[in-house]
Amino acid sequence: MLPLLQAYKPLKEVSTFGIGGPARLFTVVSSVEEMQEALRYSFREKIPFFILGKGSNCLFDDKGFDGLVIQNKISHLEMEGNQVDVGSGYSFSMLGLKTAKNHLGGLEFASGIPATVGGSIYMNAGANGKETADHLEEVLFANEEGEIVSYLKKDLIFTYRHSSFQNMKGAILSAKFSLTPSPTARDKQFTIIEYRKKTQPYQDPSAGCVFRNPEGATAGALIEKSGLKGFSVGGAQVSTMHANFIVNKENASARDVLHLAQEVERLVKDATGVKLEMEIRCIPYQSS
Ligand SMILES: Cc1cc2nc3c(=O)[nH]c(=O)nc-3n(C[C@H](O)[C@H](O)[C@H](O)COP(=O)(O)OP(=O)(O)OC[C@H]3O[C@@H](n4cnc5c(N)ncnc54)[C@H](O)[C@@H]3O)c2cc1C
Repeated sequence: MLPLLQAYKPLKEVSTFGIGGPARLFTVVSSVEEMQEALRYSFREKIPFFILGKGSNCLFDDKGFDGLVIQNKISHLEMEGNQVDVGSGYSFSMLGLKTAKNHLGGLEFASGIPATVGGSIYMNAGANGKETADHLEEVLFANEEGEIVSYLKKDLIFTYRHSSFQNMKGAILSAKFSLTPSPTARDKQFTIIEYRKKTQPYQDPSAGCVFRNPEGATAGALIEKSGLKGFSVGGAQVSTMHANFIVNKENASARDVLHLAQEVERLVKDATGVKLEMEIRCIPYQSS
């Protein structure tokens, strides 16, 4: 059955940036069948859709989204030995914690990343020298007509913050990971989360790192070297704690964030010669 559709849901309520106008239509899906129904509805009615995880890498437009936003909460979790089968709406951070507590290594870095498993596969999220794809085995996906397809990792391409799913239309439904027994996983996970708390501005709304790290450097170090920590436009500010974060200090608009990001890009190019590229996904009002 098609899950309840809500009109004009403010997207600032479902993005970690706290920014974004209303979605024409909004729904929450909690099972594979509901996701299929939502996709079929969008296909039938010719309404563009957007799959939303935790909105921790998205900058929605100030006008919102002229289509159907499908918030994914498919969140089962089964662990057997070192095999994990997890719903794409499950918390990625919680997955890192639970697997580490079960002495399984490979996803310790996920702790503290405020994402869903699906969003992390889509973005190939990573930290501490590890990426989501490292221990991935298989992904279940529904295409835009709601048909289910299973992909083995070898059928997919994953590179730095990129996956084949970025060129596909549909939704990641669930994933299988094969982890490694590790008696030190919990200690490692604990160290990672402590370091994150000390170095990232968790107290302010953001969408994580704004720019991709260029070859051989970190965007944060280049922005800091260019003297831009604390630099602001409207309500958006370059974090004083971590220069590659833009934080929503005071009711920032998407326009403020984009303007600030463009200024940072320009000033870093002038100061260091390096051209930064955006990592966060800017979601336009009308999709192409
Ligand atoms: C405080 C903070 C710390 C962060 N730290 C890190 C970090 O260490 N490393 C890192 O890589 N990122 C980090 N991020 C960024 C972000 O958490 C990741 O990019 C994450 O993978 C996004 O997941 P999400 O579920 O929030 O996806 P969303 O932001 O909701 O969506 C991101 C993209 O994925 C697509 N998508 C989401 N779910 C699905 C699905 N089921 N099927 C198909 N497409 C889907 C969306 O359509 C969108 O295009 C951080 C963000 C914050 C706010």
